[in-house]
Amino acid sequence: MTKEIICTVCPTGCTIHVEGENGTITKIEGFSCPRGKLYAENEFISPVRILTSTAKVKNAKSLLVAVRSRTPVPKDKLFDCMDEIRKLDLTAPVKRGDVLIKDVCGTGVDIIATGEVL
Ligand code: SF4
Repeated sequence: MTKEIICTVCPTGCTIHVEGENGTITKIEGFSCPRGKLYAENEFISPVRILTSTAKVKNAKSLLVAVRSRTPVPKDKLFDCMDEIRKLDLTAPVKRGDVLIKDVCGTGVDIIATGEVL
């Protein structure tokens, strides 16, 4: 398998070419620094993303509260995690930092409120 990965660690945006199979990298080139190499290795083997979204809140002036994953979740679990956020049945007040879903989809990551709805 071959992947072209645009490094997003800094604004330079190097294109990093990675080759490998079954989670093993056989060739990597195009990075300009160790941070970029590590980023591309992680993107190739186990890509993750911070999930940001909104959730509905009942009995509040604002109908939605901003939420996000506390830490990055595996990219292949993003849609499943979004489904869980959609199922939330929140009632005001929701405070910033409240844990809304513990261990979402078995990722070990919590979904937390990043906004406040009173
Ligand atoms: S490889 Fe290094 S220099 Fe290039 S974008 Fe990534 S962090 Fe920036």
